[in-house]
Amino acid sequence: MKDTYEIYRSFGISEQVWELGEKTIASLAERFRKIDEIAEFNQMKVISAMQKNRVNTTHFAATTGYGYNDSGRDTLERVYAECFHTESALVRPQITCGTHALAVALSAILRPGDELLSPVGRPYDTLEEVIGIRESPGSLKEFGITYREVNLLPDEHFDFEGIRSAINERTKLVTIQRSKGYQTRHTFSVSEIGELISFVKSIKPDVVCMVDNCYGEFVETIEPSDVGADLTVGSLIKNPGGGLAPIGGYICGKEKYVEMCAYRLSAPGLGQEVGANLGIMPAFYQGFFLSPTVVASALKGALFAACLYEPFGFKAVPDSKESRHDIIQAIEFGSPEAVIAFCRGIQAAAPVDSYVIPEPWPMPGYDSDVIMAAGAFVQGSSIELSADGPIRPPYAVYFQGGLTWYHAKLGILMSLQKLCDAGIVSL
Ligand SMILES: *Cc1c(COP(=O)(O)O)cnc(C)c1O
Repeated sequence: MKDTYEIYRSFGISEQVWELGEKTIASLAERFRKIDEIAEFNQMKVISAMQKNRVNTTHFAATTGYGYNDSGRDTLERVYAECFHTESALVRPQITCGTHALAVALSAILRPGDELLSPVGRPYDTLEEVIGIRESPGSLKEFGITYREVNLLPDEHFDFEGIRSAINERTKLVTIQRSKGYQTRHTFSVSEIGELISFVKSIKPDVVCMVDNCYGEFVETIEPSDVGADLTVGSLIKNPGGGLAPIGGYICGKEKYVEMCAYRLSAPGLGQEVGANLGIMPAFYQGFFLSPTVVASALKGALFAACLYEPFGFKAVPDSKESRHDIIQAIEFGSPEAVIAFCRGIQAAAPVDSYVIPEPWPMPGYDSDVIMAAGAFVQGSSIELSADGPIRPPYAVYFQGGLTWYHAKLGILMSLQKLCDAGIVSL
């Protein structure tokens, strides 16, 4: 379609880049069809959960003050519980981010003298301070809660023997991170997580299994809560917020554990009864409704990037053939210039702040400079098209999101154009 190219040309995309993009997309028809099939299933799951709970316009009303009898909030929590097949759910704007949701769940369940176990290696960076692996005021460690981790085997399988010997009479909670985060391991499928939970429960049936589900929601037709997770936790400025939620987190799971989380989030004795919605309900409901198709768009973008960059000899993780269990795509570029060019391409494609030119800078908490591209409607939202790369070997870029597939496509074409313009690749 010549006319379509004309509009891409106005963004500075060359005919060669455009044609390579079209050729790559043509080869992905079958993969895209499978992504759409999962989105279709999950869309029905969400609609059904909303219908069963008789969602109506009164649920979109704002409440203030204590927020007693907030039917919009309570119904939304039933919708989440229905969708995740759990007894209960806590879905709140008062949960400020994913780390907060995970910290609430951990400190709700664990008591002094208990031990926390991660059987999948080191958890996400921000949890190191929550746990006390890196010292921080208020860490679990300060409250006398110890931590143990078991690394994956070199072939990335679970170290079942290691896990068996790490579980002891003090082990109270097992935390399993689905997405690889900034690590080099693969992202676990829901069925792999199920296998791990069954193993842990076979050794100690009363241990609480919590899954950090960040970036994983709606990538498959089942969630960790379908394979035995007692608590499934995530952020609303990632997948389940559908790009519309401006803040928030969720915790789905067994009623008694979700209740403990609510007591920790508000106060003992208050729990889920308080927490005004402040008018945020339309974004939460509509974002959740859109989430399955938004996740599909992000997945298409991730797959497109892997397929576009692999032929140039850059390593894509996951690669273009693997099955996908989260929306993150890493590409190893091998040079700082390429990481910078890539991120500038993503930024230049954004609907917001497109004129900003990202630069690497020494971000607090990182041991090297980091460059970030984000032209988002919601600050820091990573279900929107975004990328970041630490300026250190192997010079990998991590990117994710895309509220629409066409935006993701533009971002990736712009990134390749910037790499061409910088003379890093030639077509
Ligand atoms: C993003 C993320 C978190 C933390 O979420 P924030 O909203 O950034 O606090 C935790 N775990 C994983 C795997 C994540 O991707």
